[in-house]
Amino acid sequence: MLLNGACHCGQVRISFESGLPLDEIELRACQCSFCRSRGAKTVTDPNGSLTISAPLGELMCYRFGLKITDYLLCRMCGTYIAAVMNDGTREIATLNAAGTMLEGLWEREAKPVHLEGETVEARRERRRRGWTPVKIVTAAARRHG
Ligand SMILES: [Zn+2]
Repeated sequence: MLLNGACHCGQVRISFESGLPLDEIELRACQCSFCRSRGAKTVTDPNGSLTISAPLGELMCYRFGLKITDYLLCRMCGTYIAAVMNDGTREIATLNAAGTMLEGLWEREAKPVHLEGETVEARRERRRRGWTPVKIVTAAARRHG
């Protein structure tokens, strides 16, 4: 199943592919201040795939806390799109289904999760098992005339 979404202004586009039926996909609400202040509801599928497409230069990276993660924000509308980590061989991500208004999922209730206090290694290992392989595609903005 392929689910599409986009940030509020529409310039960052999302495709999330999962083999799971829609009603078996779980949304999580991380309880850190960054996620709570944005109403983030995240979705992952380690057997799925995520594609983030944006015009060149329109994705901003924000780092905080353990600084092992890039939080991708739309430069235009400020939407928190996804958190991305390099696990050594590939990039993996958790998608903010609420921010990207992911079809069929974004208005669903999310399960609160408390992740504070994890060590760096525990955090990396949990993500390796749970996060979604991601491809980030940037292209020059289309010019008119
Ligand atoms: Zn945007």
